[in-house]
Amino acid sequence: IAKRIAPGSHVFFNQEMADEVQERLRISNALQQALANNELELYFQPQQQVQDNRQLGVEVLLRWLPPGKKPIPPGHFIPIAEETSLICDIGDWVLQQTCSRIQSWQAGGHAPGRVAVNISARHFHSTHFVSRLSRLLLQYPACRHNLTLEVTEGVILENLQESRNRMTQIKALGVNLSIDDFGTGYSSFAYLRELPVDELKLDRSFIQHIDQRPQDKAIIACLLELANTLQLSVVAEGVETEPQLATLAELNCPAYQGYLRARPMPEADLLRWLAAQ
Ligand code: C2E
Ligand code: MG
Ligand code: MG
Ligand code: MG
Repeated sequence: IAKRIAPGSHVFFNQEMADEVQERLRISNALQQALANNELELYFQPQQQVQDNRQLGVEVLLRWLPPGKKPIPPGHFIPIAEETSLICDIGDWVLQQTCSRIQSWQAGGHAPGRVAVNISARHFHSTHFVSRLSRLLLQYPACRHNLTLEVTEGVILENLQESRNRMTQIKALGVNLSIDDFGTGYSSFAYLRELPVDELKLDRSFIQHIDQRPQDKAIIACLLELANTLQLSVVAEGVETEPQLATLAELNCPAYQGYLRARPMPEADLLRWLAAQ
């Protein structure tokens, strides 16, 4: 809220604003408790090859499961966590849990492929991010070369030079980097030249009408060509229908994820799902 207030302007706090602050504070406190009480859980959404549906990997998507209540989707609590260093605690927990899962899957002969984790800006740019990641990979060696970090364009453009250094260090650890929600943030792609990025995730908003709107199809074709030229891999997000998938196949998009094939699911369901493939 403070960000919305121009410096020097007259500020009238109304009841609605006060209520919003109260509500966010309540959620933030509850979330801190939830982290301590193990109410957070990793869900996993499979990613497949477009051409033959071969399993490629999974994306980790966080859920908050308060006892006796409906699961709370990340859109309701991640933005609040991002207002404070709580997002770093949550992010560290997600990374640790993910690495522990990868290690145990490998030991058990399960192979969902590479595993992608979403990283918030504040966490990515925090002082100890790379050293913690490095320590985690020593603790869980099976995760090296199997882990991808997803960051948004906003994370990078917050500080390009700093992001480049960080990304170079992360790449040196054997961890891959992906740009999430690609195409939604900024119109210039020039920054891609300067960064050791491996993959682009094409935002669902472009995929949604790809089989109906020639404009959207043209944009995706263009982004695929860009990715090809820069030798980046691509995952299309939010594929819900066969016609959308057919259009992606026609455009030679390599990989996708979406409700058409699988929703995000808890670990036990994922292992069953993988075994049934
Ligand atoms: P995202 O990383 O872009 O993840 C994709 C979102 O699209 C997920 O929502 C996923 O469930 C949803 N999705 C996947 N396929 C489809 C589809 O076919 N149709 C539709 N309508 N939606 C689909 P979710 O799980 O609610 O996560 C929302 C966002 O929350 C994520 O967007 C990500 O930015 C953030 N997030 C999730 N988990 C974490 C986390 O562990 N850490 C951080 N920092 N952010 C997270
Ligand atoms: Mg993501
Ligand atoms: Mg995304
Ligand atoms: Mg998103």
